[in-house]
Amino acid sequence: MSVVERNNPLAKWYLPGILGGLLITGKHLLRNLFRRKQMPTLNYPEEKYEYSPRFKGNHILTVKKDGSLRCTACMLCATNCPAECITIVASEHNDPTVEKFPIHYEIDILRCVFCGFCEEACPVDAIRMGPEWQTPGLNGENFVYDIRRLAHRPQLKAGIVSVVDDEERHKAGI
Ligand code: SF4
Ligand code: SF4
Repeated sequence: MSVVERNNPLAKWYLPGILGGLLITGKHLLRNLFRRKQMPTLNYPEEKYEYSPRFKGNHILTVKKDGSLRCTACMLCATNCPAECITIVASEHNDPTVEKFPIHYEIDILRCVFCGFCEEACPVDAIRMGPEWQTPGLNGENFVYDIRRLAHRPQLKAGIVSVVDDEERHKAGI
């Protein structure tokens, strides 16, 4: 245990600290009352903060042009996930050129720490983290995202690209 020595005699009294704190609070109160436009708070949810387009929010499972998942169920994302919140069940594909695909892909978003390791680990750009950051839900089940939510949720249409074109990827060298 470390003991902090307070040589300043004023620091031994609580009153100056309390008065100093009240002074700062009063200053902010008056400034916010008279300069409302410069208030550093937003009236959420009517007003929302604009994050950078590079913001890493909720996950998206990308799909091919035919609408099927790009994911090959290689398990690299689940293996690299430090929170162990990704669950994948792989199955054989009818197409002999496709080795396997996920019949079940789930992310427990309440355990996720949004580190982005899953996105980094994926060799086929099948998982991305998008600008969506609001995750409301009434019970625990709302926070376990399945394939339907990760790949086909209607909110994806609000400016989030989930279709990955192979030609574009090759042009970009990925
Ligand atoms: S962002 Fe990190 S914690 Fe969340 S699912 Fe991906 S690897 Fe796991
Ligand atoms: S999302 Fe990517 S890393 Fe994860 S299982 Fe599918 S292909 Fe592999």
